[in-house]
Amino acid sequence: MKKLTSLVALLLVLCLSLGGCDLLSMLGLGTQSPISLDEVPAYSGPAYVEINGNVPSFTDEEKAAATASYEFYSELDALGRCGYAEASVGIDIMPTEERGSIGSVKPSGWHTVKYDVVDGKYLYNRCHLVGYQLTGENANEKNLITGTRYLNIEGMLDFENMIAHYVTETENHVLYRVTPIFEGSEPVARGVLMEGWSVEDDGAGVCFSVYAYNVQPGVTIDYATGKSWLSGEEPPADDAPDTPDDEGVNVTYILNISTRRFHLPTCSSVSGMSEKNKQEFVGSRDDLLSDDFVPCGTCKP
Ligand SMILES: [Zn+2]
Repeated sequence: MKKLTSLVALLLVLCLSLGGCDLLSMLGLGTQSPISLDEVPAYSGPAYVEINGNVPSFTDEEKAAATASYEFYSELDALGRCGYAEASVGIDIMPTEERGSIGSVKPSGWHTVKYDVVDGKYLYNRCHLVGYQLTGENANEKNLITGTRYLNIEGMLDFENMIAHYVTETENHVLYRVTPIFEGSEPVARGVLMEGWSVEDDGAGVCFSVYAYNVQPGVTIDYATGKSWLSGEEPPADDAPDTPDDEGVNVTYILNISTRRFHLPTCSSVSGMSEKNKQEFVGSRDDLLSDDFVPCGTCKP
């Protein structure tokens, strides 16, 4: 047993020194998924289902370490995909500033596509694993996945709000982990496992373990490519562009992150904007619209 342990330790050292090789996952120590998709019932209406009797699988060591705030984001894997993100959410690491733009991040499997059946039109959101309101982590590629509007709003937001509310009210900590669950080598996650546990009261205030589906009612998604189409219609051709007018557009806009409006640099309201709220952005209109920014009514960008 001791020999095996030292062999594993040696391999670990080798792996770490090589900077993330596949040995870790071969040993089952790296990107192993905490749940199998076989355990998850097919999507049938509710945006999320309880996993493991709604009990999170944090270890005693993890719980003991969570009396102080921290945050952790896994390195992207060899396919450029996010791993789990975990935080002990405390009032000291919650953000005090407005959220900036995340339109420059393109998570694995990303497509810019619009449907009238989707709230806000854009099928995909750059979906925070640990929500901005909890740790203030914004345009971090290790914390953003290609997630549907439905996953973002119906699947995840209530749990984030619950944690934010509890931490603000009690000033206790909530141990929170979000793990994107991929099928094989697919770039788009099938869903996310969300686990939460309030630390100081031993889970009396917050305790959950749920899987939220990365689906969008009315739209069919090919998780191997991120392509999508209206359910009941034919899939698009392989070479069909997402939004024809959005190819390679690099326009400079000025954002007001407080009002969440975007302007042309020449707009009269830009000079009066406070530096705190002003942010320059280079990209496309769709990048901003899909990040819930609204065009200014004066300069009409
Ligand atoms: Zn303007």
